[in-house]
Amino acid sequence: TSTASDPDCLFCRIVAGTVPADVVHESATTVAFRDISPGAPTHVLLVPRDHHADAASLAAAEPARVAELVAAAGEVARQEGLERGYRLVWNTGPDAGQTVHHVHLHLLGGRGLGWPPG
Ligand code: 5GP
Ligand code: ZN
Repeated sequence: TSTASDPDCLFCRIVAGTVPADVVHESATTVAFRDISPGAPTHVLLVPRDHHADAASLAAAEPARVAELVAAAGEVARQEGLERGYRLVWNTGPDAGQTVHHVHLHLLGGRGLGWPPG
């Protein structure tokens, strides 16, 4: 699904400013904010301002936005001092544990992350 904004969507509400969040980076198309339940010393979520359900839907509808999210993640990683590295994750669907159906890129870093994940 793709609409400019969904009033029932948590991340649309964060983008609109009606739900507070700790925003660490913003552009005309992208907002990045700290995860409320961090899984690493740095855990930031990067979202497009427009509502799209998941990464593949975003890539199909607005491919340039995918590149902007990845580039913004690199900027946040630099800002956060993650010179030792970081991980980017798009959880998609129930087996991956996607709980918010507004596409979000997880940026995790600040500790050794291990591979494969649990
Ligand atoms: P998912 O499991 O869908 O990939 O990730 C959703 C993420 O959103 C989770 O890591 C969860 O902690 C985070 N989250 C859920 N509700 C809120 C909220 O109200 N504010 C913020 N900043 N993060 C949230
Ligand atoms: Zn949304």
